[in-house]
Amino acid sequence: MIRTRQDIGRAQRIVVKIGSSLLADAEHTTVAGAVAENGGVQMQRVQRFANEMAALHARGLQVVLVSSGAVALGCVHLGWIGRDLSVHEKQAAAAIGQPALMHAWKQAFAAQGIGVAQMLLTADDLRHRRRYLNASNTSETLFAAGVIPIVNENDTVVVQEIKFGDNDNLGALVSLLVDADLLIIMTDVDGLYDANPFVSADARRIGTVASITPKIMAMAGDAGSTFGTGGMSSKLRAAQIAIRSGVATAIIGGDSEGSLAALLAGEDTGTLFACGADRQTRRQHWIAEVLHSAGQLVIDDGAARALCAKGASLLPVGVCAVGGAFDKGECVEILCGGQVIARGLCNYSAAEMRQLIGVSSDDIEKVLGYRDFSSIVHRDNLVLLGDAKEGEG
Ligand code: GLU
Repeated sequence: MIRTRQDIGRAQRIVVKIGSSLLADAEHTTVAGAVAENGGVQMQRVQRFANEMAALHARGLQVVLVSSGAVALGCVHLGWIGRDLSVHEKQAAAAIGQPALMHAWKQAFAAQGIGVAQMLLTADDLRHRRRYLNASNTSETLFAAGVIPIVNENDTVVVQEIKFGDNDNLGALVSLLVDADLLIIMTDVDGLYDANPFVSADARRIGTVASITPKIMAMAGDAGSTFGTGGMSSKLRAAQIAIRSGVATAIIGGDSEGSLAALLAGEDTGTLFACGADRQTRRQHWIAEVLHSAGQLVIDDGAARALCAKGASLLPVGVCAVGGAFDKGECVEILCGGQVIARGLCNYSAAEMRQLIGVSSDDIEKVLGYRDFSSIVHRDNLVLLGDAKEGEG
């Protein structure tokens, strides 16, 4: 696991996320319907990135590229720069831009003798165990074939609720999907600064972040560009998801040549978010970050203490209220004092849970007519969140 700059050199599998603002060419927009001469792509940059990734590939590293730019390129093609777009216009722009984006990457990697593959994913795909495994097996097979998978969100089929939201988040989830050692987010600033570097002359870059505290979060501000949805705060949220599961994250600038190689050589460039000691397993990650929660269980203080301090399973006696409609085995949020303290897979349905409120485990069979489990959420299927986690011991 990567805890310091020196450890970076040991990374075997990396995910490189590149933002739209680095790829799309806002200068050479066209009138609606006409195709920009350069395909709307900053081709020299794309070639430089491909060359840098090819150099890592040649050293035996396995690289996944998460590339934004479909919507931005579609907008360049259609002359839609600076316009407020409806969801369907964005989806149409993505449909136009995605092949242009892939064409650019395919050409750039071909110049280095490397093949590429396209993987379009939605957050919903990763919530389904089978589809998650399929995506994971596909990427493994692509690695074995020596091909670079290029991932983007499948923008044309997603609506807000099933979206990754932004490609920083997608990058984090892909880094977990492929079990990467390092997620690298390339953007138009060379790391996290303690103040907005575009505004404040004495803003200082933070070299390494050991833990993403509220103070660090507050440094993110809201910097944006013509393209891209992210800003620094979405990059920090992505880093948080990744490091929790043992994937170190770096934010580096894409403007300067060689930044990727410099980072991997352990040089002091960008911001490194190092992994802490508490690593979630893939299963815990899936429960905490990926699964959609279908309901809520409100529990009393005693049960909350047992979960947080003793690492116990949740028993029906500690449950005070049940919300939502869920089937057996579905993911629920566990609340105490108005806070979500954990998430877990519930052994009983919402209808059954409503009958089991405050019931002793010994009486489950009497109430339901059967008893498959004495616990409501077994410890192995439960993940503590936020402050609740700190109380664990
Ligand atoms: N999937 C979007 C695209 O390719 C990018 C989303 C983002 O900006 O993060 O245009």
